[in-house]
Order: sequence, then structure tokens, then C-alpha cells
Amino acid sequence: MHIHPKITPIYQTSVFKFEDLNELELYFGEPGSRYLYSRNGNPNSDELAEAVNRLEGGVGAVATGSGMAAIFAALLAFCQAGDHVLCAADIYGGSSSLLNQELSRMGITVTYVPFEELYALDRFVQPTTRLLLCETMSNPLLRVADLRRLADGCHGLGLKLVVDNTFASPIITRPLALGADVVLHSVTKYISGHSDVTAGVTVAADAAVAARLKQVGVLYGLTLSPMESWLAVRGLKTLHLRMPAHSHNALAIAKFLQQQPAVRAVYYPGLPDHPQHVLAQEQGGGLFGGMMSILLADDATVVNRFMQRSQRFPFAPSLAGVDSSLSYPLGTSHRYLTPEQQAELGITVGLVRLSVGIEPVEELLADLAQALA
Ligand SMILES: *Cc1c(COP(=O)(O)O)cnc(C)c1O
Repeated sequence: MHIHPKITPIYQTSVFKFEDLNELELYFGEPGSRYLYSRNGNPNSDELAEAVNRLEGGVGAVATGSGMAAIFAALLAFCQAGDHVLCAADIYGGSSSLLNQELSRMGITVTYVPFEELYALDRFVQPTTRLLLCETMSNPLLRVADLRRLADGCHGLGLKLVVDNTFASPIITRPLALGADVVLHSVTKYISGHSDVTAGVTVAADAAVAARLKQVGVLYGLTLSPMESWLAVRGLKTLHLRMPAHSHNALAIAKFLQQQPAVRAVYYPGLPDHPQHVLAQEQGGGLFGGMMSILLADDATVVNRFMQRSQRFPFAPSLAGVDSSLSYPLGTSHRYLTPEQQAELGITVGLVRLSVGIEPVEELLADLAQALA
């Protein structure tokens, strides 16, 4: 019997068989020719890593159990006890918690760099500074980083640039092509795209870094399961179709919301009045993604009413699925910042973040109109 599946089956196995000692030696002698143990490598997780690697233009990648694991792997690829990292102040809450609460225990220290000062890093650099961690588009205000300028700045100071490209996806921006050393994703978001997978991936521009990422993945046990990998690969196949759809819907919604008296501000890089609109246009090839934040009245009653009335934007504290949702930075992602930090980042009671899906846009507009009425 010849079985020729069109797509990669799920290799739901923790371990692989060997005929004899000769075959075992082939595993070590011809890397990539065989599999041994799924934590070290599995056809499904390799397929995901290789697919994202190709999209991002890297030389090697590791698929991880979450976006957090992807960030951890990237930091440990470059840092050890005694090292110091720079981190953009506008960063995913989990990233800053990882740095503050966990990597600090391992002797890795951090300094946060305000958005306005990202292009003048010299005054933040110490002799032990290894890298800058930043996001292509930040959460929740969608500030856009000029990655080429950042890469030049970092390299001039001997630092690596690590970019969390979760919000943009490689369809909108490819950080390695702009000079970044490592790019990573919460695959949970756009890469898988259907709100049914928790996963991550970290991609390196350099072979030695890729090997280091692989080692960190295997030895810390960060690698991804076959089933999750398979689902993420399935999602990834439509990423290039989904991102334009998310972007077109989001632009129409941003323009609509800007006209609504109940909406005090709309933060979306596709709007001409966004502070980095021109950069976003250039760096994103005309697509601005599906994420935006809106400012309602700074009054929890108003926010609650909006959440309760909206049918197509359920309050679900994640993002980037084909189905729209909304989130609340003050109560979720940025909950554990100090009130001063929250205020500095513009995260107030009235700030609501929308993740615009790929539904028919008229339905989304009608829903928002009635929720705001
Ligand atoms: C969600 C998210 C993460 C963390 O990813 P998980 O898959 O939840 O571990 C990291 N960075 C950004 C920008 C995210 O949105």
C-alpha cells in the first residue's frame, strides 16, 4: 500500500524508532535526515519553524510552546547572568513581566527606553548591554518602530536587535530584511490566526544564533507539540490572504470611528493623523494590520455599556483571530504596571483595543454603530 498524504500528517508521537545502531549513528551523522525524540525535533514543529523562517527570510527558527517561550528563547540566545538588556517601554505586558520578575532572578537586568528615545540609545547603554527588544507595532497604541533605523543604531553600539513582530506579521513587515538579528512571534495571534492555538516561533538571521535558539529550545524544553504545530501550519497557509482582509476592514472601521462623537481618539497607523503614518505606510507596504485602540470617555460605565452592547466584538483578552474581538489594556495586558507607567503609556479607563477580524465589514460597522449609539 502506498499512502501519499497531500499535507503533512500529525506525527503525534513523542519518540521515533530506529532499526539498529547503524541507523542511530545516521541520526547523529546526517542531521535532519531522521527524528529521535519530539522535544528535540518533530516533522510538524519543523514544518512550522521552516515555514515562518522562509516568510521572515531567516536562516533557522525554533517553534516554541508559546509566544512567551519565543521571547525567552530569543533573550537567552544572547544573554547570560551579568548581562543587561534594553527594552522598548511600549512592550507586551508579558515581556516586561518576564524581564522584571524572572530574568532578573537569573542576573539579567533591564532598562526601559521610552518610545521617543529609541533612536538615541547611547545614554542607556552599559558595558554589559547585549540587545534591544522592541515590537514592530506596539500594544495598545500601535506606535510603529522604524526598524532599519533601530537596527543601524543598535549595531553602531554593538547591540543585537530583537523584534517581536506579532502585531505586523511577516506579510506587513519583515524585520530581518531591515537589519534585525532575531524576529519572533506569538504564533497564537496572526500566524495561526483562528484563536485555537498557543504557540510561538523565534527566527534568526545568523546560523550560529539559530543553533543557539535550537539548543535553548531543546534544553529548556520550550519546543512545540505536534498537534499545535499542525494547527498553526494550517492557519499560516492563509496568512497572506488574511492580513490584507484584516487591514482593509480595520482601515474602514478606523475611519468610521473617527467620525463618532463618543470616540475621543482612534489609534491606527493607517490613519493619516497617526504620528508614524508615513513610516507605517513605507515599512508595511500599504497594509496597517487589524489592531487599533479607541478612546471612549474615561468612565467604566461607558466602557461596560459598549462591551455589553457590542455583539461582533466580544471582550476576549487576546487578538488577531479571524473573528473580531476587543480587549481592555488597563484591566488585562497592562494591569500590573504602576499607575504612573500606565499614564505614561496613555493607558486610561476609556482605552479599548479592537482586534478587527475578516468578517464582512458592513456587519462590523453596523455593530459598532449600534454599540456606540
Ligand atoms: C500575545 C503576545 C505575546 C505572548 O504570546 P503567548 O502566545 O500568549 O505566549 C508576545 N508578544 C505580543 C506582542 C503578544 O501580543
